[in-house]
Amino acid sequence: MKFIKTLPFESILDKDVLDCGLWQSETNECEFHNDKKVGKCDDSGYYYGTTSEREPKFCARHFYELVVNGNGTDNYKLSR
Ligand SMILES: [Zn+2]
Repeated sequence: MKFIKTLPFESILDKDVLDCGLWQSETNECEFHNDKKVGKCDDSGYYYGTTSEREPKFCARHFYELVVNGNGTDNYKLSR
């Protein structure tokens, strides 16, 4: 997975403040790519997450659908 850039905001989950990052990969790195209950992943090859390679990544569709819409991530906020 290739790191593209640090995004100009941080994510806050409970008391953890993490830099957000954009990643690129030829393989599907989305947390939901094997989840049959959600729709098909965006195939642009770009993934959203934090700047840590170990943290979960999301394709554009699942970032908007499941992270921004707040399904299971009630405590998630952005700063800056
Ligand atoms: Zn996805």
